Amino acid sequence: MDRNTLIHHLKERASDPWDVIVIGGGATGLGVALDAVTRGYKTVLLEQSDFSKGTSSRSTKLVHGGVRYLAQGDILLVIEALHERGLFLKNAPHLTANQEFVIPVYTLWDVFLYTVGLKFYDLLSGRLSMGKSYYINRKKALGRLPLLKPQGLKGGIVYHDGQFDDSRMAFAIAGECVENGGTVLNYFRVNSFLKDEKGKIAGVHARDMEKGDVYSIYGRLVINATGVFADEIHRMDDPLSKPTIRPSQGVHLVLDNSFLQSTSAIMIPKTDDGRVLFAIPWYGKVVVGTTDTPLDVITLEPKALDEEIEFILNTAGRYLTRPPKRQDVKCVFAGLRPLAANPQNPDSTKEVSRRHKITLSSSGLLSIIGGKWTSYRRMAEETIDRAIKIGIIERKKCVTRDFSFYNGEEKLTSERLKIYGRNASEIEKLINEKPDLGGLIHRDLPHTKAEIVWICKNEMPRTLEDILARRTRALFLDAKASMEACPLVARLMADELGLGTSWLEREVENYNQLAGNYL
Ligand SMILES: Cc1cc2nc3c(=O)[nH]c(=O)nc-3n(C[C@H](O)[C@H](O)[C@H](O)COP(=O)(O)OP(=O)(O)OC[C@H]3O[C@@H](n4cnc5c(N)ncnc54)[C@H](O)[C@@H]3O)c2cc1C
Repeated sequence: MDRNTLIHHLKERASDPWDVIVIGGGATGLGVALDAVTRGYKTVLLEQSDFSKGTSSRSTKLVHGGVRYLAQGDILLVIEALHERGLFLKNAPHLTANQEFVIPVYTLWDVFLYTVGLKFYDLLSGRLSMGKSYYINRKKALGRLPLLKPQGLKGGIVYHDGQFDDSRMAFAIAGECVENGGTVLNYFRVNSFLKDEKGKIAGVHARDMEKGDVYSIYGRLVINATGVFADEIHRMDDPLSKPTIRPSQGVHLVLDNSFLQSTSAIMIPKTDDGRVLFAIPWYGKVVVGTTDTPLDVITLEPKALDEEIEFILNTAGRYLTRPPKRQDVKCVFAGLRPLAANPQNPDSTKEVSRRHKITLSSSGLLSIIGGKWTSYRRMAEETIDRAIKIGIIERKKCVTRDFSFYNGEEKLTSERLKIYGRNASEIEKLINEKPDLGGLIHRDLPHTKAEIVWICKNEMPRTLEDILARRTRALFLDAKASMEACPLVARLMADELGLGTSWLEREVENYNQLAGNYL
């Protein structure tokens, strides 16, 4: 992925319309772009910030059917998601894992309820099951989760779901889009639509946020895949359009693994206020969350509310023998769920669904909103199928069901580098050529200098945050350590991209300001 080359592609097609223009470079937009590119459509994706800067780097990192939606009776949604979970794990084995969960149970009714419920969950996953669920007694539950409070514990229900690295998955998709002939551009903001004499959308005006150049980009199909920002795009099309998104904030805390000391995750199906709480091992840390707070303000950098942080700490403390305190938190991150609201009644949270919606405006703007990471592939397939059905683009077959992101042939010295998929051996090669690059960027972070160099060469980072938050997960794993590592990372980046001292100083300051909000 080379930004200048991709901008050159954009210029080359200035008078030749694209088949598909995708607005938004999160899970949804990237999924749509990959679906379109691999079907053979000429496709460009425009992201106003960095790929996965929005909700798609801030999830619970589960590839799941959603045990909670089962409890809510949304069986079709669960069947669909379980099927996609199976394909996700099969197609991206280097970024996903089979994660064991234990639900601690305290009453005989809960033993019955969750045993039956999870058996049903297994059943719905069919051939793509990740392992059977079963009851374990108190002793075994405490064996698996040694730091679980033993008081009143009857036992546990074990079940399996998938886990993944959300933003690395986004880069895997972006990389494959380019590999297959697509153009994906970060820091390209769509500001308005180009319309023909009948008022039909014929393309977009987009600004290169780095250089300031404005482009008129023509296309047959324009897809709005901007998550919580979808209504902003709808208003560019029709200033009187009704709201379709009901944002809901979810917060997670990252703790040291000493608070869990287990490879099993904990799932609390019903906290005091009826939410689900997870504590999940992730890259040697524990991710604990989440909350569900309806919000009216939509931003790319949502901030956790004090009461959300307290809620997570208090609830975790009720189940763990070593209750975490605020000073134990390595990182706090917040994300906004792009829930599809009922346009007739946008304020009613009761009607807010986890299901995705595809809509078509009278001017021909196709919007895909809601949904979840797990179902990104299916959402993309349905979106392009819809465009075909309407007759905007000609029929071509979807090929992503068996689209593999990893051939598994790499022979790696470092198993950790597997997350870079087909490119992992290139990073090892850099280390072999220059052994100093094998050194870590920080003693408390797993990333090597070679990864930073490879990322600069291949993944279009423009800022330190792009590297530390999303291409590596340093910010999410340990915000303070990432701040300490940032001068070194800035030097590596400046050397690689030919950036000067004033850029370096400004970037370090910007990064420290941003990362301070994750502490
Ligand atoms: C707390 C939380 C936990 C979650 N956990 C899970 C989970 O464990 N598993 C799961 O499957 N799902 C989970 N989800 C859901 C999942 O993360 C989201 O459904 C998914 O990431 C949404 O992706 P998106 O592409 O629609 O939105 P986003 O990732 O927000 O992407 C939209 C993009 O559009 C860009 N954009 C906006 N306006 C413009 C413009 N004018 N021009 C160009 N670009 C623009 C934005 O910059 C943004 O990057 C979770 C969500 C939250 C909030």
